[in-house]
Amino acid sequence: MSEITKEIKKRRTFAIISHPDAGKTTLTEKFLLYGGAINQAGSVKGKATAKHAVSDWMDIEKERGISVTSSVLQFRYGGYCINILDTPGHQDFSEDTYRTLMAADSAVMVIDASKGVEAQTRKLFKVCVMRHIPIFTFINKMDREARDTFDLLDDIEKELGIATCPVNWPIGSGKGFKGVYDRQKKEVELFSDTHKGTAMGEVKKIDVNNPELDWILGTEAKVTLGEDIELLDGAAAEFEQELVNKGKLSPVFFGSALTNFGVETFLKHFLAMTSSPLPRMSDLGEIDPMTEPDFSAFVFKIQANMNKAHRDRIAFMRICSGEFDAGMPVYHMQGRKEVRLSRPQQMLASERKIVDKAYGGDIIGVFDPGIFSIGDTLTASKDRFTYEGIPTFAPEHFARVRQVDTMKRKQFVKGINQIAQEGAIQIFRELNTGMEEIIVGVVGVLQFDVLKYRLLNEYNVEIRLENLPYEHIRWIENEGINMDKLVGTSDMRKIKDLKGRPLLLFVHEWSIRMTLDRNKELKLSEFGRS
Ligand code: GDP
Repeated sequence: MSEITKEIKKRRTFAIISHPDAGKTTLTEKFLLYGGAINQAGSVKGKATAKHAVSDWMDIEKERGISVTSSVLQFRYGGYCINILDTPGHQDFSEDTYRTLMAADSAVMVIDASKGVEAQTRKLFKVCVMRHIPIFTFINKMDREARDTFDLLDDIEKELGIATCPVNWPIGSGKGFKGVYDRQKKEVELFSDTHKGTAMGEVKKIDVNNPELDWILGTEAKVTLGEDIELLDGAAAEFEQELVNKGKLSPVFFGSALTNFGVETFLKHFLAMTSSPLPRMSDLGEIDPMTEPDFSAFVFKIQANMNKAHRDRIAFMRICSGEFDAGMPVYHMQGRKEVRLSRPQQMLASERKIVDKAYGGDIIGVFDPGIFSIGDTLTASKDRFTYEGIPTFAPEHFARVRQVDTMKRKQFVKGINQIAQEGAIQIFRELNTGMEEIIVGVVGVLQFDVLKYRLLNEYNVEIRLENLPYEHIRWIENEGINMDKLVGTSDMRKIKDLKGRPLLLFVHEWSIRMTLDRNKELKLSEFGRS
């Protein structure tokens, strides 16, 4: 095996998805703590100080104390090189969150044990399912009163439609959360005090049949555990790696990110069960990082003006194969040109570093003079291939854009187009009228503010946004459809995107069903092809 293949095999690149406050930041921080990347928990993103480690590039982020953009962290643990892709779980999140999932090989879903599946998780989960990537579940906050464990699993299966397989099982919850039972090893793992999570804590392992357990757990907890195990062994799905790989079975773990309980157990099992960098589809078929020796990557995110003094952009790319050397010439497929990737950066824990080597599975950000678009392929291979594009995700909020000073039309068009090209917003026009009216669609409402702010600050253009009542958008899959003949509902509107592709907007979800009923041939999609 070549040195490059060895490096790639060590990579584990995953995204963490959750609803806000489920504990994603805390869990990430604890991973870094075990990986030795940070010395003390609380140094990644202390919410209390509103200090954001990696992406405080815009005033809006600082003002509101939230992270608009997603970031990547790299650290090492147990011989693995781990890349965590952070997906902002805030309700105002942007399309970037979805795109980040395109760069991951698996996802970790963090669920609050007292709440179960929540809205944001549901949305992000859909994207994981579309990609058939493995999904792992960490049920967090077991140190608080939790919902019944069986109910929680039921909730995941019903709400998300994925089978679950508990790898371990909690013993008690709230103050009585003592540890977890490892189903495979038939061992109880007891956690010691971690001084509110500041220390890693010891884990004591005892065979489930060891009589000592009776007095350690107390009779009641021991009996409950015995009953749970019996029920589980009879009813729960067996662990099957094949099904996990296809994203059809989610291994479930329990713990508390705050007190570190169950975090390392989870990390160890997860790293062994999740996969190294996966093959990706291209126009020349599947490109497998284990057999493709040359560098290749695709752009999944473009971030503007990280450095306010310059109007530059950073293009984030996921390396899919081979080795990256700073300054090496690579071919930019969409630009049909050889380029040198300059100032490559990587996030290591809380700092941004210039890197000179990176491997398949890693994420790097490179200086972009405005030549890259989302989904672009870069490769050093002689067989020039293009990776499958990144879909456009359905915006959920729409507004009509009005310019305050109509004299600045040129700047306005330039600005809004550039911001759309970066993928922060999507712009649409009325389908058949000659009107120049622009409708802007966003995944999270905060993007409206970002648009206003950036147009004013970077292009000196003031706009007014008038909210539109639409909440659902569908791309039309049928080629060459006659849009005039389409029979819709009264709350439907026909529009087109920048490429002139027709789309439909709806106020009510049920209208989508009705429209499909009225037009038997019509095929609609929630994702736009790029
Ligand atoms: P995020 O929004 O998903 O990133 O959530 P955070 O990690 O910021 O956590 C939200 C809040 O829940 C914070 O106040 C955390 O201290 C708290 N929290 C996180 N994990 C746990 C846990 O395991 N137990 C308890 N009791 N609180 C937790």
